Amino acid sequence: MSEFTMSIDGEQQSSSQSLPVINPATAEPFASAPDCSPAQLEAAVASALRAFKTWRRDEAARRTLLQAAAERLRAKAPEIGRTLTLEQGKPLAQATNEVMNAAAQLESYARMPIPHEVTQDDAKGRIEIVHRPFGVVAAITPWNFPILIAMSKLAPALLAGNSVVLKPSPYTPLATLQLGTVLNQVLPKGVLNVVSGGNELGAALTAHPDISKISFTGSVATGKRVAQTAATDLKRVTLELGGNDPAIVLEDADVAHVAPRLFWSAFFNSGQVCLAVKRVYVPEALFQPLVAAIAHIARSTVVGDGLDPKTQLGPINNRPQFERVSELNADAKRRGASVHAGGEPLGGQGYFFPPTVLTDVGDDTPIVAEEQFGPILPILPYKHLDDAVERANATHFGLGASIWARDLERAAQVAREIDSGTVWVNQHVALTAKAPFGGAKWSGLGLASGRWALESFLQKHVINVNRT
Ligand code: NAD
Repeated sequence: MSEFTMSIDGEQQSSSQSLPVINPATAEPFASAPDCSPAQLEAAVASALRAFKTWRRDEAARRTLLQAAAERLRAKAPEIGRTLTLEQGKPLAQATNEVMNAAAQLESYARMPIPHEVTQDDAKGRIEIVHRPFGVVAAITPWNFPILIAMSKLAPALLAGNSVVLKPSPYTPLATLQLGTVLNQVLPKGVLNVVSGGNELGAALTAHPDISKISFTGSVATGKRVAQTAATDLKRVTLELGGNDPAIVLEDADVAHVAPRLFWSAFFNSGQVCLAVKRVYVPEALFQPLVAAIAHIARSTVVGDGLDPKTQLGPINNRPQFERVSELNADAKRRGASVHAGGEPLGGQGYFFPPTVLTDVGDDTPIVAEEQFGPILPILPYKHLDDAVERANATHFGLGASIWARDLERAAQVAREIDSGTVWVNQHVALTAKAPFGGAKWSGLGLASGRWALESFLQKHVINVNRT
């Protein structure tokens, strides 16, 4: 029996089948997760539907319980963080921080007001816009930030009065199962169910007729499948999908200032970030110095097991992704790319790939044109800024982008030309509850973050009273 259990109807459950979970630093299985049976999924959704009927009624009780859950989670951060490092690969301090940030997020949603509007209140009548929960939410997460992404769905969904069935990625189910166990020590039974299993479990969950809203984070290909499934009975859906974020450096940029910021914007979490910088456009005059500066940082960065305190970048999370990154790298080299740092898997056990800096790559090379989702950064020169903007926009993706310059007004003007949900100036990956986060084009549908996330879990309900 697995020590990691699902949370179904307030009970901790294992299953007759289980899935091995591999530590990417050793490429060996180290634990297993229950493989949720169809009957268990049915029980989880039925329990969530029952719990919804009471949970939706008492906003004050929800706030108190979510605050208590945040405190419980914070106390468990070291334990869950360690599990996260073992299954995901990231350095332990970052994994523990991910859990602490999730607790902080839960706390901040516990205090967030639920919108309520009165747009007319006079002798003729009163129009009130009430915001109501949808019902049972299916939350589906990927393997790069399992806890933070789960919480970005759970906290607003639960505050809004929905109940939730959460399914993590089969590569990283364990920390999320622990999250479910901890939160279920505080929440009423059935309000939060956590089930683990393969991709087919995600498909069954999204197709379930008692799910009213799907909140999905993952790849574009799966996101499109989820949208098709949702269309059958017009389930509400929020999709946070992939990106191929460009960074455009302007001629007045300070190379020494920009290089370390660009490096960490590209390589944090070993590049496995939906809105990592995935390609950089640099004016010819700055090209050589910037490539040299970024490559220098890459060569001095420590790659290793996330449990080693010296490690700055962990392994790639799973074998298929490791193979994809290795193949994109090999393909770029076959096409004549120059390697300034890294350029080969590290070898030995584990899915280790060093931070790799490439130049002499064409715009249509897959490492530039596709989402690599790994520690490889192609750097491309440009002559005219208009041309760089056009190349940055020439993709189906539109998640994030950034402009790097000393002249902030000019940078903000260039930012207006970029087709993406967010454009940062002199930073990247800077998410904040003060701004919505969502993708343009194929990078997503709907908004996350702060009050925009809360609104995405609420149905507007108009009460229009005639007083004449
Ligand atoms: P994925 O699409 O393979 O899987 C994501 C989740 O969907 C997993 O839990 C998986 O089991 C489940 N799933 C698979 N098939 C399903 C189906 N038919 N129906 C329902 N669920 C199904 O993605 P991944 O490889 O785990 O994650 C990497 C991708 O996620 C990258 O493209 C990355 O850019 C993206 N991502 C986006 C954001 C964002 O906020 N925009 C954040 C993190 C990751």
